[in-house]
Amino acid sequence: MSVKESQVQLKERVQKVISLLKKKYPDAHCALNHENAFQLLIATILSAQCTDERVNIVTPLLFNKFPTPEKMANAKVEDIEELIRSTGFYKNKAKNIKACCEQIVTKHKGDVPQTMEQLHALPGVGRKTANVVLGNVFGVPSMVVDTHVTRLSNRLGFVKGKDAVKLEFALQKIVPEREWTMYSHYIIYHGRQVCKARNPACESCFLQKICPKKNY
Ligand code: SF4
Repeated sequence: MSVKESQVQLKERVQKVISLLKKKYPDAHCALNHENAFQLLIATILSAQCTDERVNIVTPLLFNKFPTPEKMANAKVEDIEELIRSTGFYKNKAKNIKACCEQIVTKHKGDVPQTMEQLHALPGVGRKTANVVLGNVFGVPSMVVDTHVTRLSNRLGFVKGKDAVKLEFALQKIVPEREWTMYSHYIIYHGRQVCKARNPACESCFLQKICPKKNY
């Protein structure tokens, strides 16, 4: 953990941290309720600047009314707005959700595409959203970089910086591919429970002996 930590030592420490997180949070999983790729895609778009709990309150009604990409694409944007209003930025989100579903219908025969390139080309879908869907529904190893992953990966000394795309590729180099999808779930659990943004509980953290607690 010294400043001279080699790439090999860093990878070993990453693996050790993952093992400890796995033991502590064996049930870690995607916090957005969903039954299929379409639902997770829309829920993830809604989760921007909003809590997962709030999204989970909103989505049952939304998917009850518009259960498929076709139905969502044909919905009036005002009706989508009304159902998602409490998630914030609802006008922009509703516009993107409708446009996204229109493209799924016209370009992908109504099925959510299964590659980063195709997902990322959909309106309102950034790399993070695409990675959430790829990793959690399609079983493609995917590194999701959100605010928790950014904060904790920096504090743990795994990466440096805040650029989500750069962090995604940097983490892919040191986290074993088989762990990419779960890495973010473990880290998010730890970020919510222990390594919080304002007051990280370092004194009682089970990672404290192998964490350099870098400023972030
Ligand atoms: S030791 Fe502190 S900074 Fe490191 S993971 Fe634990 S709470 Fe976060």
